[in-house]
Amino acid sequence: MPTYVRTDKCDGCKGQDKTACMYICPHDLMKLDKDGSETGHAMRAFNQEPEQCWECYSCVKICPQQAIEARHYADIVPLGGSVQPMRGSDSIMWTIKFRNGTLKRFKFPIRTTPEGSIDPYGGKPGAVMANIDKTGFFTGSEDGGITKGYRAGNPAELIRK
Ligand code: SF4
Ligand code: SF4
Repeated sequence: MPTYVRTDKCDGCKGQDKTACMYICPHDLMKLDKDGSETGHAMRAFNQEPEQCWECYSCVKICPQQAIEARHYADIVPLGGSVQPMRGSDSIMWTIKFRNGTLKRFKFPIRTTPEGSIDPYGGKPGAVMANIDKTGFFTGSEDGGITKGYRAGNPAELIRK
């Protein structure tokens, strides 16, 4: 189910050339209607091809005004309910609104390192580039998968019909 923009909340990212939702959409679906000629709402963004939206939630998460919502499948979020994320620098808060008005909030960490930093191996052994052509390279351990993390195939385990 696609996203839609709440025109009462969107501020067009204050007139920047490229809005946050346009920047982040992997499918290039979000568009700013600068003069209102396409939607009747000048300086508001809209999802220009809703049927192409894959509900990745990237635009919902990045919108600084929380102006984007997704229409959910009714078996997940019944009509009248909503799911709205608010992203922080180290966590994301999901606000779930039930159609009877009940609100629930869930906060999850989204980083294991401070914003702007990265720990690519997360305490695990680094890749051994000299072994990159060898089987099991990325599934092995400190020896690059030469002896660990790899098991030769067993023809008796094949399913034959
Ligand atoms: S990111 Fe949000 S505020 Fe900015 S243009 Fe898109 S919908 Fe509007
Ligand atoms: S949910 Fe994903 S695919 Fe859909 S408009 Fe937003 S960023 Fe694009």
